[in-house]
Amino acid sequence: MNSAGLNMQKSGLIGAVLMGLCLITGMAEAEKSFLQLSHARLYPGMVQVLTLRLPTDTEITGLWSLERSVPYYAEQGSEDKNRYVAYVPIGLGQKPGQYAVLLKYRGNQGEQNEKSFFEVLPKKFPSQRVSLPTSEKKELTRSPSLETEADVLGAIFSQHEVLRCFDGNFVRPLPGAISSEYGASRVYDDGRIGWQHRGVDLVAEEGAPVQATNAGIVRLAKALKVHGNTVVLDHGQGIFSIYNHLSKINVTQGERIEKKFILGQVGMTGLATGPHLHFGLSVNNVRVDPLQWTETGPL
Ligand SMILES: [Zn+2]
Repeated sequence: MNSAGLNMQKSGLIGAVLMGLCLITGMAEAEKSFLQLSHARLYPGMVQVLTLRLPTDTEITGLWSLERSVPYYAEQGSEDKNRYVAYVPIGLGQKPGQYAVLLKYRGNQGEQNEKSFFEVLPKKFPSQRVSLPTSEKKELTRSPSLETEADVLGAIFSQHEVLRCFDGNFVRPLPGAISSEYGASRVYDDGRIGWQHRGVDLVAEEGAPVQATNAGIVRLAKALKVHGNTVVLDHGQGIFSIYNHLSKINVTQGERIEKKFILGQVGMTGLATGPHLHFGLSVNNVRVDPLQWTETGPL
């Protein structure tokens, strides 16, 4: 063997040793990390799902992100007792930039913390002209009921079932196409700017069946002036789904229903330009894009 061959062999050996070292360091770091983020980058309207895996002799003393304390829930169906899940919803108003998740925990070595970072990317939401068909519907855009109803819904979203009721993926409540996407800013006929759209509108004929996106408990089944006939389902762990403008409601408050249960029919009650379903999802009292959950799942 010539000297060049020997050198190659040597450098190959050094390379292998270095690779081995990297693997060992990588493993040590992975073992130390108790906090996993579902996304390194995400857009407003999406949800960052946190997975917390701590040793059995360690307890969580705090979890924060976006200047809020984040609630965490024991992972159901897991053998390991010290596994938790938590959700950080990125609201429509969240500015692009780097944000942190801070986990504090206490174990044998006293209180320690772990920090992870993620990036919120800028997103341009479309602007949409809204033509309301009748003067009664036009009046609703100025109705004081809008504020009252927002309070009613806000109060529901802030009290929730701790245990997870949902089971696997969320499904679309009906197969129709999207007529107005999440985040669209609304401009009325008279030029006034309405609320940014905090759900999606699905096209369907009057009377079309609306199915529950997942299993849950009915927290609201009521006729509201602006939102129309409304159903709110509590899926547990701070996750709610919202169905507006129904012509008919088939469920009652307090009822526990399965995924795909027919909870009502499409209509145009309340502030609606025509028959459609307004479908929304609230996570920790922040309205997020429900399609992230029905099309790809939150992870
Ligand atoms: Zn809508």
